[in-house]
Amino acid sequence: MKIAILPGDGIGPEVTEQARRVLDALDLPKLTIWEGDVGGIAYKRHGHPLPQETLEMARASDAVLFGAVGDPECDELPREHRPEQAILGLRSELGLFANLRPAAGYPGLEGMSSLRPEIARGIDLLVVRELNGDVYFGDKGERGSDGGREGWDAMSYNEAEVRRIAHTGFQAAQKRRGRLTSVDKANVLETSRIWRETVIEVAKEYPEVELDHMYVDNAAMQMVRSPGQFDVILTGNLFGDILSDQASACVGSIGLLASASMGERQTKFGTFGLYEPIHGSAPDIAGQGKANPVAAILSLAMLLRHSLGCETEAGRIERAVAKVVASEVRGADLGGTASTSEIGDAVLRQLTALS
Ligand code: NAD
Repeated sequence: MKIAILPGDGIGPEVTEQARRVLDALDLPKLTIWEGDVGGIAYKRHGHPLPQETLEMARASDAVLFGAVGDPECDELPREHRPEQAILGLRSELGLFANLRPAAGYPGLEGMSSLRPEIARGIDLLVVRELNGDVYFGDKGERGSDGGREGWDAMSYNEAEVRRIAHTGFQAAQKRRGRLTSVDKANVLETSRIWRETVIEVAKEYPEVELDHMYVDNAAMQMVRSPGQFDVILTGNLFGDILSDQASACVGSIGLLASASMGERQTKFGTFGLYEPIHGSAPDIAGQGKANPVAAILSLAMLLRHSLGCETEAGRIERAVAKVVASEVRGADLGGTASTSEIGDAVLRQLTALS
């Protein structure tokens, strides 16, 4: 079994270090761990945010644990050299079209939600976000206009792209509570009209899943009004990016939410995937020991489950994290004073107690 760890920039290395400690504590047999540069650090060391060597390492692994990329010192670089191109490049080069972002409330944490506790208590949803298309990957550019410089980005989805992510969404709903809400903007966007029609076609193969459709503006409103109504949210790249960050605030902190990005490649142990917290490099708190490592540690749990077939270990990590989150050991994001490594220490203690 091979795992590539790509810590990246800002708090990326701080949170992946804690996930690495958890991985080491599991002492899995026959596991090779490699580390590679990605993002701003890779640009500074190798002249490219996604060096060929890093890409090859990811390809040769069974799974990738990713930290975060983004460095204010690189903001003025041409787009192709900016750190964020590394994660977009990995997603497209590795064919990772399905992004799974679970968001569930923790008992004892309702008070930290931006919602009233009785509303926060009901959150248990999964955002299934398409990751290889939409406006993030469409043609883009800058041109002159009467109003000065004009930026443009093309948004598109074809039926094949929608169909494959729709299958992921319906299959996820089958394993959960059997409800799927497809989020689009079909009243305005052609992209969304194709999206909605294709989802309705795919739904015929999953008669036991209850499907409904919601415009993204309504979905954003419903997410804060009554998030408990959602089981699986199926949506495109841009809408999924925004709605999953919003879901994190409903749970309590962006530092709690993990994600899995998967494609079609099967390994000896499961499905190849890239796992990362949903947060970015958080330059405002980088280097201060204030980052919550829980999202990175839960990303490791998803990696073990989906890519390495280690369900027992994944479950143990999740139970250990739930105990820590419900305890007094909280970072600044949850109103506490615990540092990144102290939260890591607490997870390791719970992990030992559970073994
Ligand atoms: P961000 O997620 O980095 O931070 C948003 C806010 O949440 C900040 O106030 C930050 O301090 C806080 N936060 C984030 N993670 C936290 C954690 N683990 N613990 C405690 N607090 C946490 O988003 P941003 O500020 O919009 O972006 C910063 C950089 O990250 C940008 O360069 C952006 O492009 C990049 N980014 C990268 C990814 C990725 O690597 N996949 C994702 C999102 C943003």
